[in-house]
Amino acid sequence: GGRAARRPRVTVDSSKAKTSLEALKISLRQLHWREYPFGRRLPCDIYWHGVSFHDNNIFSGQVNKFPGMTEMVRKVTLSRAVRTMQDLFPLEYNFYPRSWILPEELPLFVEEVRMMKDSDPSWKPTFIVKPDGGCQGDGIYLIKDPSDIRQTGSIQSRPAVVQEYICKPLLVDKLKFDIRLYVLLKSLEPLEIYIAKDGLSRFCTEPYQEPTLKNLHQVFMHLTNYSLNIHSGNFIHSDSVNTGSKRTFSSILCRLSSRGADVKKLWSDIISLVIKTIIALTPELKVYYQSDIPAGKPGPTCFQILGFDILLMKNLKPMLLEVNANPSMRIEHEQELSPGVFENVPSPVDEEVKVAVIRDTLRLMDPQNKKRKDIQIKFSLGLPLVAECCSQTAGGMKDKQHKHNSLKLSLKLKFYLKLGLCQTSEHVSEANKDLLDIGPADGPEHETTRTLEPELPSLCLKQVFPKYAKQFNYLRLVDRVAALFIRFLGVKGTTKLGPTGFRTFIRNCKLSNSNFSMACVDILYIDITRRRSSMGIDHKESGMCLQAFVEAFFCLAQKKYKSLPLHQQVTSLIDFCEYQLAVLDEKR
Ligand code: ADP
Repeated sequence: GGRAARRPRVTVDSSKAKTSLEALKISLRQLHWREYPFGRRLPCDIYWHGVSFHDNNIFSGQVNKFPGMTEMVRKVTLSRAVRTMQDLFPLEYNFYPRSWILPEELPLFVEEVRMMKDSDPSWKPTFIVKPDGGCQGDGIYLIKDPSDIRQTGSIQSRPAVVQEYICKPLLVDKLKFDIRLYVLLKSLEPLEIYIAKDGLSRFCTEPYQEPTLKNLHQVFMHLTNYSLNIHSGNFIHSDSVNTGSKRTFSSILCRLSSRGADVKKLWSDIISLVIKTIIALTPELKVYYQSDIPAGKPGPTCFQILGFDILLMKNLKPMLLEVNANPSMRIEHEQELSPGVFENVPSPVDEEVKVAVIRDTLRLMDPQNKKRKDIQIKFSLGLPLVAECCSQTAGGMKDKQHKHNSLKLSLKLKFYLKLGLCQTSEHVSEANKDLLDIGPADGPEHETTRTLEPELPSLCLKQVFPKYAKQFNYLRLVDRVAALFIRFLGVKGTTKLGPTGFRTFIRNCKLSNSNFSMACVDILYIDITRRRSSMGIDHKESGMCLQAFVEAFFCLAQKKYKSLPLHQQVTSLIDFCEYQLAVLDEKR
């Protein structure tokens, strides 16, 4: 159309798109954007990678992967990150099954299960063992007792997660199913998250029965993986979105709503699960980000589509199974024509959902929209705070009180800008309000996009963060610990803190005293890093990774603020450190 011709066309390098190429091509055609399937000598606006950030060497534009995301969502890393949050906020993070990391926590697993069985003899649990880095149901098995873990030497070489098996999933047509939802992490700093309004539901192909010793091994009954069930004789390919072994999530919601289920509440719980999970991942992602794209390097900037696998329990509570950094964007499936003879045929269900997700991700990342938005944001967010600051400092800084106030204010400004928190005056007390206005309706935030592209449907991606930021910001404690960590990493682009960096952190934050000498600091550093390397967790590079730093930080917090609950101890210590560092910066 005339409009599209007048603005310079957005350029997309699709040379590394791999299996998402087909869906990407359709999206680009719909947008009238220019595709470079073999790459381009000049820089492109957007690079579409099929595997990871590092697929291409790029220095500008935007790329659809974050550095470190693949590592972060591995089963063991994800479990660890969620565990940290469960330690701080057990109730908020009860959407992830109780998990243990093997082999390091095998004794703990055995012991905790024994204790729980002792205290409740009627508890007859089942556990699911999943090898780290596996996918598509690979290597997964169910057990009734910790002693059934297969110790064939493989556990030592290949870490795994064992978790409580959810025995009472919601069934549709007597079948177990899970949900694949697409989530766009549009930006890390400030945090921006979108959720696709529709996703896929993947069905088992054998009627479900609660696990017994007899049916434990029946994968078509217990595992919902498409890649497994496709090999069951019962798999139903369907051209319709609401029958067959793969359906749209919206068709399930329709069914549930006609059964009288509270679908709005379900969506609100899912949104909250997604936001909390991403909050658990952001601290380490920021460490990777500064290491691959140090401040001062021109770019690129990153965004990423994540696949969330969610299981609904019978009582409609959503549980997180896993997060995929490279969710399949294939829009065709293999069909067995005769035994051993396969053919790729289009899959309408996949195409409907996935093309919309890619296309609308691109619309949100449109560099021309971004320029407009940046200007808007500068005016609507920054200025009021800057104005507050200026009016405070304008009166002069003669008396001490005034100096203190303006220091506090400029710290506040720096701090909010850093976290990307827009709602400066809002309070945590509002935190537990329900997310009421969700559901299929569009917010007003996309008016610009819609008027610019009249021929396209309204966006299938819905912003959930910062939209609901004020209900979740109180959970972002580890983000603040990560900011301290990154500050002491220096500018070398590393991800690990050496002993000198750790000492500087302690000294600058004034954490050592007569009860806690610098010798104790060194011992703490050595204890934590040594234990982790002896368990084979941190082997690649020596030093203290973020997870270890967080562990040390929690230790320090417990020492300094003994009687409080953990999250208050940690908050107090963060406040203390941030204040000390701000005073130090002011002096410099
Ligand atoms: P993979 O990456 O191999 O797909 P998942 O963690 O997604 O590993 O697990 C595979 C399947 O096993 C899931 O799709 C789900 O059907 C089932 N599953 C996994 N964890 C649990 C659990 N804790 N309770 C019940 N079912 C589970």
